[in-house]
Amino acid sequence: MANNNPIANQENLHFFGDVCKNFDYAAQFTHHDAGLLDQIKSCNSVYRFRFPIRKGDGFEVIDAWRVEHSQHQSPTKGGIRYSEMVNEDEVMALAALMTYKCAIVNVPFGGAKGGIRINPKNYTVQELENITRRYTVELIKKNFIGPSIDVPAPDYGSGEREMSWIADTYATMNPGQLDAMGCVTGKPIALQGIQGRREATGRGVAIAVRECVSVVEDMKKIGLQPGINGKRVIVQGLGNVGFHTAKFLAEFGAVIVGLCEFEGAIYNEDGLDVESVFQHRKETGSILGYKGAKKEFTNSHLGLEQDCDILVPAALENQITAANINNIKAKIIAEGANGPTSPEAESVFYSKGGLIIPDMYANAGGVTVSYFEWLKNLSHVAFGRMNRRFEETANTNLVNMVEGITGVALSPLQRSTIIKGASELELVNSGLEDTMIRSYHEIRETFKNTEKIDTLRTAAFVGAINKIAVSYKNLGVWP
Ligand code: GLU
Repeated sequence: MANNNPIANQENLHFFGDVCKNFDYAAQFTHHDAGLLDQIKSCNSVYRFRFPIRKGDGFEVIDAWRVEHSQHQSPTKGGIRYSEMVNEDEVMALAALMTYKCAIVNVPFGGAKGGIRINPKNYTVQELENITRRYTVELIKKNFIGPSIDVPAPDYGSGEREMSWIADTYATMNPGQLDAMGCVTGKPIALQGIQGRREATGRGVAIAVRECVSVVEDMKKIGLQPGINGKRVIVQGLGNVGFHTAKFLAEFGAVIVGLCEFEGAIYNEDGLDVESVFQHRKETGSILGYKGAKKEFTNSHLGLEQDCDILVPAALENQITAANINNIKAKIIAEGANGPTSPEAESVFYSKGGLIIPDMYANAGGVTVSYFEWLKNLSHVAFGRMNRRFEETANTNLVNMVEGITGVALSPLQRSTIIKGASELELVNSGLEDTMIRSYHEIRETFKNTEKIDTLRTAAFVGAINKIAVSYKNLGVWP
């Protein structure tokens, strides 16, 4: 069976090591006790388990993991990856990145990650439901899930459907638990999910890029005109993150010149219509053959090497390495995926005058909106429910008064724009935008003001390490 493929399990077993390498490098710019740094860096709990499911006429044993990297804040948080390539090293690395990610965007969670080693395409919906429910039961048995313990979410290969199975299994096995729905985020709206969660990661990446290119001083250094308008972007991955990143960047005024997927890549310097490429791929099963493309490549990696200003790897880890970094034309790499750039490639890229917006900041929009969903679940009230009408009434009174005093009547559109109270989606998007913008400048300040910090990633790590150290000290765990 594909999921027992030993080759798949041997690949990329340096991902957690790479994260630790980046951590160690950043740690020298902090002043913490070596023991405390070690505590921050280590994976606290690694739960590896196997369970059988019925498949066809027989059974199959499924390999699965849940890693809780750090409990300096509770609950721990992170998605569940459904992939036949998943291995323990990868889940540990991704859990660690969640810890730093949450600290960077000031989301009060520790980091965690889950993995189920299957290719979802090889399973029926019924089998996927059985796998997901059994996975959840195994987590419940070991106290590895709960609104105050560890809260999973979607990741590569999973989505709202899987989250609803998890929520239902958890609620069924914890009857009467008032906050049961806060055991998982990324749920469908009908099952106490939140507006805007599905597109949150991509929207966050797009905001991060827009903020980065808006800083005149930094753009001057790397030889780009400031501003998102007209920036030429290549996106790798048309999944949830890549698709939404491309869509929002185009909305902000960038030109999507290239799109890459497993089967190949397409390019058009005048721009590609993301929505219609997505539809084309859905209908034909391939990104290739899209009529709006001027060039196409059956070797997907060639797509990354085409002319552009910004490259957004939004698929999987280890895509930009020493092997291809010298062919990359972009000036900015914005990491939509986790771990797409190897440490070696990163230092070459910076030495050539490039800039990398690091994963643990760039793709933190997902967990940020997950935090809002969790808050909604614990408070049992949708955002905006208490204040929307109050705001509208207050705004109406104000507009009426101003119209009365000035004698100027606003048009119906002007009136409704001013009066309208915020909806849940607007509040979520505003919280997300604020988080991404503030966090970018926090990282940038560290980058700019600390001598010898040479990458935004190191600056992001330094900020995260300092915040986590404070949490440990506040817990009284460290003197
Ligand atoms: N899987 C996403 C990530 O890597 C989301 C995690 C979450 O929402 O908890 O950030």
